[in-house]
Formats: sequence, C-alpha cells, structure tokens
Amino acid sequence: MIDIVKNKCNGCGLCVEICPKEAIHMNIDQEGFLRPRIDASICVKCDICENHCPALMSINNDTYKKVYAVKNNDEVRKYSASGGFFSAISDYILRNEGAIYGAVYNSVWQVIHVKAVDSETRGKMRGSKYVQSDILKCYKDILQDVKNGEWILFTGTPCQCAAVTEYLKIQKAPIDKVIVCDILCEGVTSPRIWEDYLRFICKKNLAVIKNINFRSKIEGWKKIYIYIEKEDGDYRGSFDEDVYYQLFSRHYIMRPSCHVCNFAHVNRNTDFTMGDFWAYQRLPETFDDDKGISMVLVNSEKGKLIWDTIRDDFEYLESTIDIAKEKQKPLKTPTMYNPDRKRLWACYLHKGFLKTISRYTTYGRAVRIERKIKKTIKNAVFKLTRNHDA
Ligand SMILES: Cc1cc2nc3c(=O)[nH]c(=O)nc-3n(C[C@H](O)[C@H](O)[C@H](O)COP(=O)(O)OP(=O)(O)OC[C@H]3O[C@@H](n4cnc5c(N)ncnc54)[C@H](O)[C@@H]3O)c2cc1C
Ligand code: SF4
Ligand code: SF4
Ligand code: SF4
Repeated sequence: MIDIVKNKCNGCGLCVEICPKEAIHMNIDQEGFLRPRIDASICVKCDICENHCPALMSINNDTYKKVYAVKNNDEVRKYSASGGFFSAISDYILRNEGAIYGAVYNSVWQVIHVKAVDSETRGKMRGSKYVQSDILKCYKDILQDVKNGEWILFTGTPCQCAAVTEYLKIQKAPIDKVIVCDILCEGVTSPRIWEDYLRFICKKNLAVIKNINFRSKIEGWKKIYIYIEKEDGDYRGSFDEDVYYQLFSRHYIMRPSCHVCNFAHVNRNTDFTMGDFWAYQRLPETFDDDKGISMVLVNSEKGKLIWDTIRDDFEYLESTIDIAKEKQKPLKTPTMYNPDRKRLWACYLHKGFLKTISRYTTYGRAVRIERKIKKTIKNAVFKLTRNHDA
C-alpha cells in the first residue's frame, strides 16, 4: 500500500486517480501540502498505487541528447521567468490547436494547474510560482484530450510530469502527440505559508492584489524580486530581503519529499527540461543581455523533432551537460534539508506566522531596529519636554 511512501510522497495525486476501489483521497496536512489517505476498509491491497507511485520510481533514462541556451524575443521574456522557452514550445501547441497544461494563480492566489487553448490563458502560466501547484483536476482532461487526438503540452515539476506520463501509460493512451516538459526543480513550498505570507503583505485583505510576479525583471533577470501589484500600493521584495524568499531559500518550507527527491539528476523521462541558464558566464558575453536565458535539455527523439521545428523561433546556442550542471543543483542532488526545519514548523504551528518570521528571517531584526528607533525618539521627546517644563 502507498502508506509506505511517507515523506517521499510528492502529492502528485496519481494514486487517487488509479486506485480501482477509489480508496484514496487527498487531505491537506498541517504544513498545507496535499497528502493521500487510504480508507483501509475499502482497500483490497492490490498494490497498484505503490507500483506506479512516482516517488518510488527509478529513472534510468540517460538518453538526453542536447543542451541549449535559449532566448525568446524581449516582449516574451518580459513576462517569462527566464528565457521564454515555455512560450516557444507552447506557441507550437497553439499553432496546432492543441491544449497546454501549466500552473496559474486562481482567484484567491492559490497555485493550480489548468488547461489553456488560447494565448491569454497560456500567458497566465508564464512566470515561476514558487508554491506547490495542485494538478489533481487535470488528469481526466488530459486523457480526454489525448483520446480526442489533440496535441498536448504538459509542463510542471519532474514529479508531476512523471505522474502524468505514468497515468497515460496505465490508461494505454497514445502519446505520440503528447509533449512533456519538466522544470529544473529545487523544490516546491508550502501553500499554507504562501497564504499567510500574502495576508501579511496585504494586511489580511487579499482582494487588493492585482498581480503577482515571483520573477519580476525590474532590476534585470539576475537580481530576483517578487513584485506584487496591489490597489493600495505595490510591494517589491528582493531575494535576500523578502521573508518568503528567505524561508524558501533557507529550505525551511519546502515539501519534505523535495529533500529526498528521486528526480534530481540529468536522467529525464520527459521530452524537454527547462530552467535558468545560470552558467551564463560560460556563454559568449554578447549573448547575455540580463533579460533572461533559458536552459533547455532535449531529452527524447520526439523532443528533438519538435526542437528542429521550432528552433528558428528564438535565438539559441549549443552547450554541454557538464556546463549545465555547474550551477544547477537539481541536475545533481536533492535540495539539502535544513536541520532547523522541524523547529521552525513547531514554532509556526504553536505561535503562528509572525513569530516565525521574526525568529527565522531578517524581519525580526527589522522590527527590533524599528522598535529601538521609536524608543530612542520617545526618550528624546520625553527629555526635551521635561527640560522645557523645568
Ligand atoms: C518551484 C520551482 C522551482 C524551480 N527551481 C529551479 C531551479 O532550481 N533552477 C532553475 O534553473 N530553474 C528552476 N525553476 C524553473 C525556472 O524558474 C523557470 O520556470 C524555467 O526556467 C522556465 O522559464 P521560461 O522563461 O521558459 O518559462 P515561463 O514562461 O516563465 O513559464 C513558467 C513555466 O513554469 C511552470 N510553472 C510555474 N510555476 C509552477 C509550479 N509551481 N509548479 C509547476 N510548474 C510551474 C508553468 O506552467 C510554465 O510552464 C523552478 C521553477 C519552479 C516553479
Ligand atoms: S507520490 Fe503521488 S502517487 Fe505516490 S503516494 Fe504521493 S500522491 Fe500518491
Ligand atoms: S492497494 Fe489497491 S485498493 Fe488499496 S489503496 Fe492501493 S490501489 Fe487502492
Ligand atoms: S524537488 Fe522533486 S519532489 Fe520536490 S517538487 Fe521538485 S521534482 Fe517534485
């Protein structure tokens, strides 16, 4: 039974879809992540869930063919996390009147996977959302589209891509028109912390949010900022200063499975892998304009055929897997576990979000400095008035 997966479970929901007895349901755990729960009274111990679970899969495909640095045009890159490869590949699907599956924000700023058949909805998929996306509602739609003979592009984390691929295999669906593109993935973060963070930034009123961009390029591609457009004034926070980015980059709030991820290597069962080309110093200087460069791995024969069809739509340079690996942990090893993670979550669950960021981010220091300044001013004013009265 799937219960043995425990902390390796990445929340893909495949087991829910394939259990012949409908014995598995997804619940939200105390960290805000989706987690399967089995109704033991219905389960017939057939082990189908366990045999197909992506968390227990070993990926042996080392057939990656090519590595490229890719730059789409400036207008596309303005809205893309890196070099806009996603737009290039999804344009191919739109031209073929197919369907694109990717991550968007819903009306309350949670991250979910949806289907796009037009460039407007596809546009909402642009931009990295550093929160775990819920793909549960996509499985059946994807299967239906495939059965209808549509072109399909599924983009997501490697574990989500593995789950969707496995699902189509189990359903014996024809996959010749299915393109799967994973992202270089360091880890996904807690939807519960994300919600608390947004409430903190918006003083509890999420209705003021107009747009969120985790990878705003206001200061260029290399300086990472989160930018939240709000009716009562925009917020921008740098990678080093923003409290959410601090919790993320210090590995406090990632899904536990991300620290034991079995997809953190160059072997990929997808057609393409996309990420940021952080080893840009290894490219000719003129190629880098600080507007974003995608790293693209072409992993399959199908990927190569598509690549040959779309490669004139953007600028590209060939690179090597050794260069690709230089600045990319997701191609080498799972993200390190922070030994303080448990303590942070204990603090969060007992004392809440504000206490947690005060203790584990620079927010605490900022608050202390603010308090000190206020106290000094108060003391000075008190002394002045006392002297005046005297
Ligand atoms: C959680 C996460 C961790 C990442 N870690 C790394 C990393 O360590 N190194 C690295 O080089 N790149 C990483 N990336 C990928 C990188 O940020 C870009 O998404 C990638 O380079 C594609 O850029 P683009 O300009 O082609 O795509 P864009 O046009 O910006 O499109 C973004 C694509 O990412 C998908 N996406 C966005 N958010 C999510 C999500 N929460 N879950 C699943 N899919 C999502 C969208 O569906 C879309 O296909 C990560 C992305 C995410 C979402
Ligand atoms: S990784 Fe996916 S298939 Fe495996 S137990 Fe978790 S939700 Fe189920
Ligand atoms: S063992 Fe079989 S019946 Fe039991 S939860 Fe898994 S798939 Fe369902
Ligand atoms: S790090 Fe691994 S387990 Fe975590 S979301 Fe990415 S692919 Fe899935």
